Amino acid sequence: VLGKKDFIKIITALAAVVEEKRDYLSDLDSPIGDGDHGFNLSIGFREVMKNLSLWEQESLAIIWEKIGMAILGKVGGSAGPLYGSFFLKFGEVAQGKEIITFNDFYAMFSAGIAAIEMRGKAVVGEKTMVDALRPGIDAFADAMEKQIEPLSAFSAFVEAADRGAKATIPIIAKKGRAMRLGERAIGHIDPGAVSATLFLQTIYKILL
Ligand code: ADP
Ligand code: MG
Ligand code: MG
Repeated sequence: VLGKKDFIKIITALAAVVEEKRDYLSDLDSPIGDGDHGFNLSIGFREVMKNLSLWEQESLAIIWEKIGMAILGKVGGSAGPLYGSFFLKFGEVAQGKEIITFNDFYAMFSAGIAAIEMRGKAVVGEKTMVDALRPGIDAFADAMEKQIEPLSAFSAFVEAADRGAKATIPIIAKKGRAMRLGERAIGHIDPGAVSATLFLQTIYKILL
């Protein structure tokens, strides 16, 4: 089970990884986008960290709602609204709960990822963050169904997301800026699929 302290740790770690990987993620976005993915995320998470201590007294659901709103409001481009919708939904599912079981945790991710798919209308194979998140959450669901122990289930989530992100390398894009490049997008990994995988890897390390 997870409580508010764990989630504060998670948010702080996500903000730290965004800072650490900011230039790397923007560099990935240069050949197939506009080179701002890391900067976009950094703007959003800096806004979150600026306010987090004020939000800590709130319920878990409200904390995630505020994070979602901050990212939605501060981050331009496509990834901001997509991750913003994720966090809003993530919090909505946690409503009324201060103790999050592993089943709740799964439900939060599942709904959050569905919100990204709804907002961006992307499906697997279109070279977006969905290529990491959808196979990831499906592997998580599968592991939960088989009643595999929580940490291994989350590890399956991360592994499948990582494979999905790598699978964006040889394909053309059907969504986002990279779409305009046609075949020239081939050979480049999708930056949003990389950031999504990095987020999951970071959360996994906190759960350990
Ligand atoms: P922008 O492309 O507006 O500059 P970012 O660079 O921050 O925004 O984010 C780009 C990432 O957003 C892409 O790598 C891709 O993963 C993701 N993305 C773009 N469009 C969509 C979409 N319709 N659905 C899901 N993800 C998308
Ligand atoms: Mg960009
Ligand atoms: Mg941009």
